[in-house]
Amino acid sequence: MSSVFDLVVHNVNIATMAEAEDSDGYGIIEDGAVCIDDGKIVRVIANCENNSETIESEHTIDGQGRWMTPGLIDCHTHLIYGGNRAKEYEMRLQGVSYEEIAKQGGGIVSTVKATREASKQELFESAAKRLSYLIDEGVTCVEIKSGYGLDLQTELKMLEVADQLAQFSPVEISKTFLGAHAVPPEYKNRSDEYIDLVCNEMMPELNKRGLIDCVDAFCEGIGFSLEQTKKVFDTAKSLGLPVKLHAEQLSNLGGSKLACEYNAWSVDHLEYLSEDDVSYLAKSQTVATLLPGAFYFLNETKLPPIDALRKNNVPIAIATDSNPGSSPCLSLLLMMNMATTLFKMTPLEALQGVTINAAKALGKEDRLGSIEIGKQADLVIWDINSPAELSYRIGGNPRYTVIKNGNVIVSSPQSI
Ligand SMILES: [Zn+2]
Repeated sequence: MSSVFDLVVHNVNIATMAEAEDSDGYGIIEDGAVCIDDGKIVRVIANCENNSETIESEHTIDGQGRWMTPGLIDCHTHLIYGGNRAKEYEMRLQGVSYEEIAKQGGGIVSTVKATREASKQELFESAAKRLSYLIDEGVTCVEIKSGYGLDLQTELKMLEVADQLAQFSPVEISKTFLGAHAVPPEYKNRSDEYIDLVCNEMMPELNKRGLIDCVDAFCEGIGFSLEQTKKVFDTAKSLGLPVKLHAEQLSNLGGSKLACEYNAWSVDHLEYLSEDDVSYLAKSQTVATLLPGAFYFLNETKLPPIDALRKNNVPIAIATDSNPGSSPCLSLLLMMNMATTLFKMTPLEALQGVTINAAKALGKEDRLGSIEIGKQADLVIWDINSPAELSYRIGGNPRYTVIKNGNVIVSSPQSI
């Protein structure tokens, strides 16, 4: 029997990241081939050298013995914003205090102001540039949050830009509404009223326009209370929208427990997560998303409870948290390195964190995150000798070829 496939990638060692019972986690297939039709994986073949079957295809890629993984997924970013905070960073390092910087209009308020003032085109261009760095390192799906508008008009603008990126970039974009990111200056000391605006006006209107895939909030002393977060979640639930949460980053307000009650896709940051919280996560489907870039950039010292998460089999995702204030990061590979150096995760856990578990954190595990029959053909060929090399390196980009939906979207000069 022979059939003609759209594309066959052969002569690759594959880390499928499939969660089969007998898998070592990587799900390694040596000397493998992947057959693709209509953008989907239709066959995965092992030990090609011993296979005499003729496989015909319209297009063929010879991986020349390189490694292949699923396309990487960055499941937590704030990629769209106006301006940046490099000047503020410089001032801080020159010894200017946070208060003084805040007085001069710095901090998140400056990003909100710059985002409100920026045109859609400006926001699109700056975010597309940042997105291109991620894609160049094998990222094929990116979550992008709103949350620097904090008024209906600008939150709409941000999510429309995310929608444009979904249309005009080759990768998949997941759009998260983060209206409850911070209290806007015009609502100072009136955070309850602002939450009413988020719940009664912003969320229903943006949802009506089909711009929300998931709803997020920042549950923290400097963000919103547990009560206010609950209100946001209740509204999301009433609109049939899934939720996720920035929780336990600087203190423990119990946000993770609340998020589990609402079947959240993920809870993110988690430096202050308690053992008790971990037991709630263990009983839920909620993913623990860790953000080593923010931990690093803010010089945090309190580590998330990795051992407890690991012992309780809570799926852990890793993301860039790309944002202008606390993680101006454009490298998911660097985050894998930091997950292993700072959080003492294993290279396997780091790779699971940016593939199958990141897919779960976006409710996409049925389609993305592993190389299995029926899943979307989102694949990266790497110029490496073992999957651990992806976490081991600091800098450099071993990406060889990136395939999205069965189409080559990035290829190395030497592969042409
Ligand atoms: Zn964030």
